[in-house]
Amino acid sequence: YRLAVAGVRQLVPYQPGKPIEELQRELGLSEIIKLASNENPLGPSPSAVAAMQLALSELALYPDGSGYRLKQALAAKFNVTPEQITLGNGSNELLELVARAFLTPELSVVYSEHAFAVYPLVTQAVGATGIVATAKAYGHDLTAMRQAITDNTRLVFIANPNNPTGSLLPQAEVKAFIADLPETVLCVLDEAYVEFVGGNPAEDSVLWLADFPNLIITRTFSKAYGLAGLRVGYSLSCPEMADILNRVRQPFNNNSLALVAAEAALSDSEHLQQTLANNRAGMQQFIDGFKTLGLDWLPSAGNFISVALGREGLPVYQALLAKGVIVRPVTNYGMPQHLRISIGKPEQNARCLQALAELLTR
Ligand code: PMP
Repeated sequence: YRLAVAGVRQLVPYQPGKPIEELQRELGLSEIIKLASNENPLGPSPSAVAAMQLALSELALYPDGSGYRLKQALAAKFNVTPEQITLGNGSNELLELVARAFLTPELSVVYSEHAFAVYPLVTQAVGATGIVATAKAYGHDLTAMRQAITDNTRLVFIANPNNPTGSLLPQAEVKAFIADLPETVLCVLDEAYVEFVGGNPAEDSVLWLADFPNLIITRTFSKAYGLAGLRVGYSLSCPEMADILNRVRQPFNNNSLALVAAEAALSDSEHLQQTLANNRAGMQQFIDGFKTLGLDWLPSAGNFISVALGREGLPVYQALLAKGVIVRPVTNYGMPQHLRISIGKPEQNARCLQALAELLTR
């Protein structure tokens, strides 16, 4: 233990939940609903499942380490070249690749208060210094983030929308922020939840890649595409950046089932539309439910919503768990009085709200 490098010893381990079967056994409950990890309650596209079934016959072979077909499909969809794409084992891996390729212990990284937990993790793992910019109304404050940048800052993480707050920055503000960065500062724009952003299609950040060689957009198949278990994420950047990231990547970081499933999922726009419709309805269901319960919440552009309980969240989390409803406490995000709830199917949302009502009105 004491031989581990200092940055690693200081890391707070990411806390995954217990397996559902284990919890079911422990709690003696027959049905548990999990609204804790921002997964797609509809599951993946059936065509992704069919593609995996076909690929089962080739498991003795190594996967295509270049991800040729998936990159072709992504390139066509986003109007970029395959050379601008890097595939990761989940988008988390891309965050790590950026840290490994660009950070040293002399350098610092800026991210926001209440931002995604993996940013400090990948920063500290390479011994770099994390600088936390104070948030504004639970969202990223780009002015504070700009001010937090020092001479030795090499990287800025922006999550848009952010997890666990669901906050969304206007595209124009993000673009102006990136344009204003010193040349030696890279920006990872983490768009894990971008598919859920409603309203008029805002200016797509992919269009900025031509202007900003320091921009790395990361996206994932874990959320809207319902493939969290397969671990597929990708980044879009200028080709030179992708070249660097591909150098530090393991040659076979995406398995063969993941590659074919992601490719199939990408072309099933009907399933994506169903997912988005379910999310919109579920978001409204929670908002209506919170209003009835007299609870406040953070407006969310993602597939989850953080509710303000006005009291400690952990005991409420525990009590919900005892009723077979798993949500996410966000104390480790500096939000001890919130709980983050992933949007589920209508009946799951109703059960979660019902359990919350029983606990809070007692
Ligand atoms: N970014 C954000 C903001 C997230 O919430 C998540 C998932 N929790 C990720 C990235 C990583 O997702 P994955 O590694 O499954 O692509």
